[in-house]
Formats: sequence, C-alpha cells, structure tokens
Amino acid sequence: MRRYTAWKIGGPADALLEPKSVDELTGAVQIAREAGVPVTVLGGGTNVLVRDGGIRGLTIRLAKSLTNVEFDGDRVFAAAGVLYPVLANTTAGRGLAGLQFATGIPGTVGGAVYMNAGAYGSETVELLDWADVLRDGEVVRMPNEDLGLAYRKSVLHEHPDWIVLRAGYTLKPGDPEELKSQIKEFRAQRMSGSPNKPSCGSTFKRPEGDFPGRVIEAAGLKGTRVGNIEVSPVHANYLVNLGGGTARDALQLIEHVRATVREKSGIELESEVRVIGEP
Ligand SMILES: Cc1cc2nc3c(=O)[nH]c(=O)nc-3n(C[C@H](O)[C@H](O)[C@H](O)COP(=O)(O)OP(=O)(O)OC[C@H]3O[C@@H](n4cnc5c(N)ncnc54)[C@H](O)[C@@H]3O)c2cc1C
Repeated sequence: MRRYTAWKIGGPADALLEPKSVDELTGAVQIAREAGVPVTVLGGGTNVLVRDGGIRGLTIRLAKSLTNVEFDGDRVFAAAGVLYPVLANTTAGRGLAGLQFATGIPGTVGGAVYMNAGAYGSETVELLDWADVLRDGEVVRMPNEDLGLAYRKSVLHEHPDWIVLRAGYTLKPGDPEELKSQIKEFRAQRMSGSPNKPSCGSTFKRPEGDFPGRVIEAAGLKGTRVGNIEVSPVHANYLVNLGGGTARDALQLIEHVRATVREKSGIELESEVRVIGEP
C-alpha cells in the first residue's frame, strides 16, 4: 500500500480494486460480502496509516476511479473519487465560489465527507447538501444534517461498511478570475509553510484554544526521529517519511509526541489519522 498512500507507508493489500463505475463497485462489494471477505474503502490514501502487515480482504481505492462532476446552476454533484483540488479548480473556473479551500486538501470527495475536511477557516460541512451512501446494498441519500459532520469527523466513523459514492454541494456565484487567484494564494501559502516530504498532512487535531504545531515545537520535538519518520523541522504537526519509514515507526513517534506534550504542557493531543490494517 506504500504506492497508494500519501505517507508512502503500508504493507500489502490482499486484493486492490480501482472500480471503473459505481456498478462495478457495488457488484464487488456484494460479492465480497457474500463470501465473508472484509472490504476496506480508500479515497486518495492521504489521511490513513496502513500498518506494516497490510490489509486483509478487498481494498477498494476510489481516487481517480469515480471522477464525474456535474453542474446544475449553482449546484455541483461530484463522484466520490474526484480529487478535492480538482473540484476547487473546476468550480472556480465555472464562477462558483465556496470550494477554494479544497485546493490544499489532496484527498477525494468521499474522504472529505468522511473527515469533514477543511482548511483556511472553511469546512466541507458548510457547503455540502447531501451524500449518496451505499449502505447494506442500497444507495441512501443522506442529507448534511444526518451525516454528523463535526471537526474532522462524521457519522461514517461509526459505520466502516458505509461507502460514499457521490456528494452534492450548493455554491455561490463568483468571479472566476478572483476565485482562481485566491486558489493561487492558498497554494503559495501551502508551498512555503509545509514540508515537501511524504506525510499525511496534519497528524494531530487542534487542541482547545491552541495549535498542535505550536505545542509540539514548544515541547522541543522538532527534528525528533523514530526510524525514518521525523517530526518535520518545517512544521511540527507534520510527521514526515524520510524514505522507507514504517507504520511501526510512525505509531511510535505519534505516541512519543503525545506523551512528551502531555508531560510538558498537560495537553492531550488526538491523532487525526485513520490507522488501518494489520500490525
Ligand atoms: C499534504 C497534506 C495536506 C493535508 N491538508 C489537509 C487540510 O488542510 N485539511 C484537511 O482537512 N485535511 C488535510 N489533509 C488530510 C486529508 O487530505 C484529508 O483528511 C482528506 O479528506 C482525506 O481524503 P482521502 O480521499 O485521501 O481519504 P483516505 O485517506 O483514503 O481515507 C480516510 C478515511 O476516509 C475513509 N473514506 C475515504 N473515502 C471514502 C468513501 N468514499 N466512503 C467511505 N469512507 C471513505 C477511509 O476508509 C478512511 O477511514 C492533508 C493531507 C496531506 C497529505
């Protein structure tokens, strides 16, 4: 799974499917369930830590698989595999405002619903109308208020067998040139403030009234390494893979950071990363 995750970490999947259509996806899920084979769904693999033993059963990867985007006035319908930066650009180009923040989030529409992804003071919950979710073999249109979207979480965390297939957003009219220039600005900010090495972005959620990067740096942890995973000297909330880092190293470093910050400042950091697979 190293090849399929932003962190470039993870043992092998028994089987990996990149479905070409929703029918192929639902058919594969049905066959797997009937055969008692576990199913794991990934978007872009940008917020997961796949353990070194890999993933048993069928892994389905949607990034670049289901990528259809449709428009109806100020409404946008995006398939689960559409990359968020692509959606930011496409909607801006159409003169639709609201999703510029998505330019900095490298995952998919499905992953963004699952995580209620956000940046620069905006979050998915503010624009999302509904998500079509495959539940027990049926597609259910779940309205925003039923998705339990809160800071980096959703009701999907409690239902690992539910799969987001599509999402609908309502945006506002805007000037394409202005929207594109805001996207450019966001990108430039990212380029200068974050490390250029494999990671899963922010590792820890914001603690009450503070920033994880600040408290980790204040605990003197910048540059700390376990194996080839390092607390980035550029931004302390990024744990970067220097090459060949393992999930075991990453998990150890996460625990070390949590324990040190707890000891030095009494703050309890919570990881934002979803840990999957076998040790
Ligand atoms: C460099 C970098 C910068 C980042 N910056 C940000 C940021 O600014 N803001 C932010 O919020 N996040 C950020 N992230 C984290 C990440 O991009 C988001 O959490 C993103 O929403 C994850 O989407 P994904 O498709 O990659 O999900 P994955 O990592 O593939 O999966 C994450 C979880 O979602 C589930 N999932 C994925 N797709 C589906 C689906 N279709 N149906 C059901 N469950 C699904 C998976 O099972 C898994 O539990 C960053 C990551 C990186 C690497």
